[in-house]
Amino acid sequence: MPIVTTRSVVLQTFPFSDTSKILRLLTLDHGPQSVMARGALRPRSRLSGVLEPFADGVATFYFKPDRDLHTLSDFDLTRERQALGRDLQRYAAASVLCELVLRLAPAERDEELYRLLVRGLDALLEAIPGSVPGVALAACWSLVDVLGFAPDLSGCSRCGDDLSERPGRLDVREGSLVCGNCLPGGGTLPRAELNALRRLASGDPVGAAPSSRQVRLLVDFIRHHAAEGLRIRSLDFLLAEEVR
Ligand SMILES: [Zn+2]
Repeated sequence: MPIVTTRSVVLQTFPFSDTSKILRLLTLDHGPQSVMARGALRPRSRLSGVLEPFADGVATFYFKPDRDLHTLSDFDLTRERQALGRDLQRYAAASVLCELVLRLAPAERDEELYRLLVRGLDALLEAIPGSVPGVALAACWSLVDVLGFAPDLSGCSRCGDDLSERPGRLDVREGSLVCGNCLPGGGTLPRAELNALRRLASGDPVGAAPSSRQVRLLVDFIRHHAAEGLRIRSLDFLLAEEVR
């Protein structure tokens, strides 16, 4: 039974018994993995209070290649991020990042994904009040991008117009823009909203707080394009916290 030591982010935890818990991790070297932390809920465990969502550190576990659940032997904490849980907007966005990874991450090592997740969680933790919504949307779009679902915002996907004059809208199922001529109807984006979407989708947290419409665009895009029917529960939380 090989022992594996790898940097890991705690995506989700749930109790298994009165004394043990199960962790869903994104590991740097082995992609997403589930581990059992025996005794971690005992008050005197050295892991008590350490294995919380959004934390990252170096996990050591006994890796059983033919199993879905491995046994954690140690977790050397690099950064705890429990402060994210004290601010509902930050918590909602961090939960979306972790749930996207849980549902959509590839099974193998993905260093870029790991790096972006850590960077997104750090950005949420360090964002000054007022900048949280922009930081949250930029971090979510960046993760959507590295997961392989980036929208094509270059212009109308049907006629190629760059939408510098014509209004357009985001077709959340196709994952691209379409102009008002090619698909008449409501829901077109004003120029400022289209520019804000382009910046957020490129990972730029824009200066002013993004509109509630930008939150809705991200949520609809993930639901209908990236997740394709998979339920991402934390998106409801993001809407509740950010759409006023
Ligand atoms: Zn068009």
